[in-house]
Amino acid sequence: MATRVQLTPEQAAAREEYESFARDHIAPHADAWDRSAAVPEEFITTIAATGYLGACVPAAYGGSALDAIGFGLLNEETGRACSSVRSLLTVHGMASQAIGRWGTAAQRESWLPRLATGAAIGAFALTEPGAGSDVKGLVTTARRTEDGFVLDGAKRWITFGQRADIYLLFARLDGRETAFLVERGAPGLHVTPVRGILGTRASMLAELELRDCRVPAEALLGKPGFGLTAVAATALELGRYSVAWGCVGLIQACLDASLSYADRREQFGKRLRDHQLVQRMLADMATGAAAARLLCQQAGWLREAGDAQSVHATWLAKYFASTTAFRSAADAVQVHGAHGCGEEYPVQRYMRDAKVMELIEGTTELQQTTIAQSAYVGHAPARPATTPAATSNAALADDEKVTA
Ligand SMILES: Cc1cc2nc3c(=O)[nH]c(=O)nc-3n(C[C@H](O)[C@H](O)[C@H](O)COP(=O)(O)OP(=O)(O)OC[C@H]3O[C@@H](n4cnc5c(N)ncnc54)[C@H](O)[C@@H]3O)c2cc1C
Repeated sequence: MATRVQLTPEQAAAREEYESFARDHIAPHADAWDRSAAVPEEFITTIAATGYLGACVPAAYGGSALDAIGFGLLNEETGRACSSVRSLLTVHGMASQAIGRWGTAAQRESWLPRLATGAAIGAFALTEPGAGSDVKGLVTTARRTEDGFVLDGAKRWITFGQRADIYLLFARLDGRETAFLVERGAPGLHVTPVRGILGTRASMLAELELRDCRVPAEALLGKPGFGLTAVAATALELGRYSVAWGCVGLIQACLDASLSYADRREQFGKRLRDHQLVQRMLADMATGAAAARLLCQQAGWLREAGDAQSVHATWLAKYFASTTAFRSAADAVQVHGAHGCGEEYPVQRYMRDAKVMELIEGTTELQQTTIAQSAYVGHAPARPATTPAATSNAALADDEKVTA
């Protein structure tokens, strides 16, 4: 029984639809896609036909413009079946939302209808060899020419970079962080697949090399200098929200697989589900799924209400959901014993995918430091200890007196 609170009838119906799509069209193939390190083109056509790729595109441009909870549920059900497909929704949504929010009318008209139907796939290209968590360390440069810009630099670990038609890419223009829309096929853009990645193996990662890469003047997205603080920040917020919900699905998948296996497998004359130490793992997964889902719902409600606290709520949700997903996946492998290490069961994939969730859209450590710092906001500083002696210098011995 998955605990859910306060879904409207429409949201509940949408969740059922996403669940059924994921069960029929994603879950049966997820292990094979993981092994082949790619999501096939036929599947992109299939998911495009559902309209799910238009989740972050306004209706005026042909998108489905899902509300925050609706988008979360789509990510949960997709993430329950396959984290690589969920990551497609994440980066495609980040690019779509950025163009919708920061693009000119011409950029929106040019890209959003294609992103809504899946005729174009978007990706997010921020990370560089020397700039990971510290995104301000980016060194890719953009220089103005008569009719546009020339970009030079490198981007690493770009999800669906092998497949994308448009990259939301960040570079320094006159030293200031700036966002650009770089099309696949731009002269001087070289795309190399990343092989042998630990998890989300089917997410078609690529490295991008920009050597004298020429883009037109219309490639500039938003104002120069707004690249990180506005464009990337809002895109990463959406990405974090999407990953958090995807992790809820991943925890649920770990629980589903473990419940089934523990029900069937017998050791010492009884089913695994009746061994108390196995029950501990099942209980932690069930509690983790429910708690992560509630944190995601809270972030979603605040996001939908346009409440600034949604940023902090999303950090909490992503931190809790991703760390719980990894613990749940490790426990799911444990429940399956040696079978958990083989290809017969998906739990080894869940564990590899869950580790990635602790790195992307802000590593666990970056979330810990951010959340800890925010916890001090509104926290009353501890009052200095006051003793009768401390309040009166006269009462102190000479060497104890407080002096300026
Ligand atoms: C599968 C996958 C998909 C990805 N997809 C994309 C994508 O689509 N687009 C994109 O731009 N990037 C993408 N990335 C890159 C991802 O965003 C980065 O991996 C992430 O930002 C962390 O950067 P890093 O790997 O360079 O680690 P680093 O920043 O080098 O960190 C290494 C370790 O040091 C810790 N650390 C760093 N700074 C601090 C600090 N101040 N305090 C405490 N600990 C710290 C980190 O938490 C981590 O444990 C992807 C990565 C993976 C693995």
